[in-house]
Amino acid sequence: MAKPKIVILGGALSGPTAAAHARETDADAKITLIERAKAISYAVGGLPYVLSGEIVTRADIVPHGPEFFRHDYDIDIRTGVSVERFDAGKRKVYTSDGVIAYDTLIYALGAGSVLPAVFGDGAANLSFLRNPAHLRTIDARLQAGARKVVIIGGGYYGVEAADCLARRGLEVSLLERGDHLLPEFTPAAAARAREALLAAGVDVRVGVSVEALVRKGKRIVALELGGGGRIEPELILVTAGVRPRTEMFVAAGGEVRADGSILVDERCATNLDGVFATSICVSHSHAVTGEPVWTAQASDADKTAQVAGTNAAGGEARLQPTLGTAIVRAGALQLARTGLTTLGGPLDAARVQVSGHSRDPFFVGSEPLELAVYYSRESERLLGAEVVGHGGVDKRIDVLATAIMGELTLSRLAGLDLAYSPPYSLARDLVNAAGVVGVQARSLRVWELDEFAKRDGDTLVVDLRAKAQRKRQPLPDAQVMELADLPKHKAALRKREAVVFVCETGRTAYLAARTAAQLGCRGAGYLSGGLRPATGPQPAG
Ligand SMILES: Cc1cc2nc3c(=O)[nH]c(=O)nc-3n(C[C@H](O)[C@H](O)[C@H](O)COP(=O)(O)OP(=O)(O)OC[C@H]3O[C@@H](n4cnc5c(N)ncnc54)[C@H](O)[C@@H]3O)c2cc1C
Repeated sequence: MAKPKIVILGGALSGPTAAAHARETDADAKITLIERAKAISYAVGGLPYVLSGEIVTRADIVPHGPEFFRHDYDIDIRTGVSVERFDAGKRKVYTSDGVIAYDTLIYALGAGSVLPAVFGDGAANLSFLRNPAHLRTIDARLQAGARKVVIIGGGYYGVEAADCLARRGLEVSLLERGDHLLPEFTPAAAARAREALLAAGVDVRVGVSVEALVRKGKRIVALELGGGGRIEPELILVTAGVRPRTEMFVAAGGEVRADGSILVDERCATNLDGVFATSICVSHSHAVTGEPVWTAQASDADKTAQVAGTNAAGGEARLQPTLGTAIVRAGALQLARTGLTTLGGPLDAARVQVSGHSRDPFFVGSEPLELAVYYSRESERLLGAEVVGHGGVDKRIDVLATAIMGELTLSRLAGLDLAYSPPYSLARDLVNAAGVVGVQARSLRVWELDEFAKRDGDTLVVDLRAKAQRKRQPLPDAQVMELADLPKHKAALRKREAVVFVCETGRTAYLAARTAAQLGCRGAGYLSGGLRPATGPQPAG
């Protein structure tokens, strides 16, 4: 019997992973991988950290070159070869190096970087940050003495690049056209990222776009900004997003979604017979909403690659839905998110916000930590989370992502048995605390900032904040009180239909609302997350 022929298009991260899984599934198959660049199987996520010097050599991000896959996996790796098209009916791939027949095809062509139109065809001092070749271009500019770097686009990778280049001691400007950095995060968390980058010396500008360029020879020497500003960069890094590279798939009769991504099923199959898809050009279902979602993350690409590779080789693998879990560093701050982080909607999502510490507050290295957990108001099932802090963010987001996948409720979260020792956590970790507060707040009214802003005159606002904070952000209709004095105000509190306690973080206000409820105040509630200053240092806990 003829050996099955598997052809893989694309060799960055997903293609080689799919190839390895195909080989592990079928020892006899003839497997060919086609990649137009020289490098294959490199850790794109590591690129910014080569720039900061935290990854010492470039070779560290390319652990397995073509030779490894040829020798250890018996895969026919063809680098420097471009795929031109494929014919799904004839099962043939047409490349710059001839035609290759296949039985199953794995489409792993990923996504192309977006270059805003104003930059035309680019410039000698402009680069993307997607592969080792880009790294060489950037390095060459920096070696030649470039100090002023402008980064276009404040999504995950723009923020990472800004953070890393600032660590290298360069003069960095980060320009974001939208009204906040990190569109996947809530505006409040994104504002914290901005403050942290500013504190790290990055010139962050949001709501700003490049309107015109000044060129000198092959270089761009100035950027004219909307609103009148001007920056004179020596190096420009474009991280303005990516677009699924699916034109070839569409030309072969493949169906894509409105965003251009390929919707795969749980086997990573596409609508084309014998064609599987992986890489950052695919969408698959969201674990909470069930809707298709395109995350363009390596963590998802790796999973689709394993499934596509196994199934293309005749094996049996199923994809789990995604939560879009992600983490990013911005200066001294760490930010992470998972699942659904919007309020209301068809699942009637509510939120509990808590703040505390990464480890016991008396232990050296304890850092402030803030956590928001989203849950279904009806079933109390966890739906999503966002964690912001200076340490321990990674651990909390991963616990929460696991809890969401396990369909835990607030009460189960409250009782989750997590490891405790002062160097690592707290006896009541903040993850547990979110569950505890969420459950105990059931009988209270939890006010979100936007509804608090629309409060009517009948609502009693009780301000528990310190004097300095009250001065910075006054609440003219509020009555100032201290937590310990609430019993003195028992009669007044009991008379009111709606009482909202306000503090800096939500923590004291929550305690006050619980106390007031016990004093017989039926309308007791608190402002979730508290009122914090727009800029400047954040109060801890
Ligand atoms: C700076 C940066 C940092 C990142 N950090 C993280 C992170 O921390 N966490 C995370 O989860 N994700 C991260 N990502 C996202 C993710 O790591 C990468 O985007 C991922 O590695 C993409 O790999 P891929 O194989 O899916 O797709 P791509 O990288 O798009 O690879 C597609 C491959 O196909 C090749 N190709 C395209 N057209 C042709 C053709 N016609 N013929 C032959 N070959 C072709 C390309 O050359 C490319 O090698 C980061 C991305 C960037 C840019």
